Amino acid sequence: MKRNWLQAEPEMAAAGDEVLRRLETAGYQAYYVGGCVRDELMGRAVHDMDIATSAQPGQVIDLFERTVPTGLAHGTVTVLLEGFSFEVTTFRRETGYADHRRPSEVEFVEGIGEDLKRRDFTMNAIARNLDGQLFDPYGGSRDIERGWIRCVGKPEERFEEDALRMLRAVRFASVFGFKPLPSLWRGLVQCRDGMSYIAVERIRSELERIVLGPRPLRGLELLRRSGLLERAKAPLPAGAGQDSPAALAALPALAPERPALRWSLLLQALGVSASDAETLLRTWTFPGVLTRQVVSVLQLDEAAARLLEPAQEGAAGASGSFSPSGPSSPSGGMDWRRSWIKLQLVCGREATALWLERETTLKSAGALRNPDRALLVERAQEWHRQVPVHQVSDLAVTAGEVMALSGRRGGPWLGELMKELLEQVASGDLSNEQPALLNAVKERFEHGI
Ligand code: ATP
Ligand code: MG
Repeated sequence: MKRNWLQAEPEMAAAGDEVLRRLETAGYQAYYVGGCVRDELMGRAVHDMDIATSAQPGQVIDLFERTVPTGLAHGTVTVLLEGFSFEVTTFRRETGYADHRRPSEVEFVEGIGEDLKRRDFTMNAIARNLDGQLFDPYGGSRDIERGWIRCVGKPEERFEEDALRMLRAVRFASVFGFKPLPSLWRGLVQCRDGMSYIAVERIRSELERIVLGPRPLRGLELLRRSGLLERAKAPLPAGAGQDSPAALAALPALAPERPALRWSLLLQALGVSASDAETLLRTWTFPGVLTRQVVSVLQLDEAAARLLEPAQEGAAGASGSFSPSGPSSPSGGMDWRRSWIKLQLVCGREATALWLERETTLKSAGALRNPDRALLVERAQEWHRQVPVHQVSDLAVTAGEVMALSGRRGGPWLGELMKELLEQVASGDLSNEQPALLNAVKERFEHGI
């Protein structure tokens, strides 16, 4: 009797079955393999279904109306069917991993048995046929039940071939809460120098899945113990989890949908400043948008920390433009409010919202030990909601209108004046209406400013 997919969308499973059926009808073998089979056994949602077949890429292309030649040299064709896409890969063997990362040769082989042999872990080396029967020569289902990560074959050999597998082992251990077998761990420690061969992007992608996954602390702890990241091409936060576990305890509570929340906390716990974070994130090939968000959150945090510093005689210069004009006030008086509003205008609405979300979550998790900071977060949340404008373009006058009124040429004075207006409107000293704003501008000119 046919066993149905429980974790895959029924329409996707039906389309996948159609791909297998067509291949079989044409006389080829075909199986579901890899992550989808594993996730189904684990009761995790299946998002994509990979297929392995005895058909050669050209034969796959001939059988389906719509295909994309994704990686012909490696035997992969993407089949598009009923709105879904399936990677269909010819059974293959890989040899000649001279550079510790990519096989120099790919050889197509006869049966699924040979194909499963090249796969990294037993849980990823299970094939499933159209009826739902499993072909599981390495005991992957049993390892899944026990929560074990085991290499297919000898760990040292498999890690020697492809060093990224070590990081994949840590990622699976972290995301699934699985335990790497002691033999795997010994192999990993023995082969860890191979990390220096792996492209930074590939490392970053595994690292992202660890940090944004459900058990980031477990992954960070394993990374620290493994010593993998110290050996990577770019310097990565290898000390995470060791130096400041307390600061990181709330990491899992931060929403992974907004990656800047977790990355900013992680970098901070590692003692990375806003200016160093920028270089670091670029070296790791993080996307520009995320880099900007993380850097802005760190900048805001550094400025907020300065705001909270007890006022010292003559310290105003040292604490920069955000320092309160009078002594810091734990009661959250005007000084904090004005300084905070200036701060959020400089850092921007998005970074402010991210920082506030992060700090509010940390506060609920009991991770803000400084009571002044907790108070600032509470007040700042309120102020952030009340502020009527966030940027110059929100003002009811334009720079052009101000310039026309002045009868002067543009110059740095104009930007400064607009910024001042913005600050005044944001702090509630001036209403955001054109007559009021133009009046304020006129007064300035009358006073010769
Ligand atoms: P997920 O998609 O959730 O990350 P996955 O196991 O599907 O997990 P993929 O990178 O999509 O991971 O790879 C698909 C399959 O290809 C894996 O299940 C595994 O069988 C095999 N595989 C992937 N990367 C490697 C590797 N570096 N060495 C050996 N086999 C690998
Ligand atoms: Mg996959």
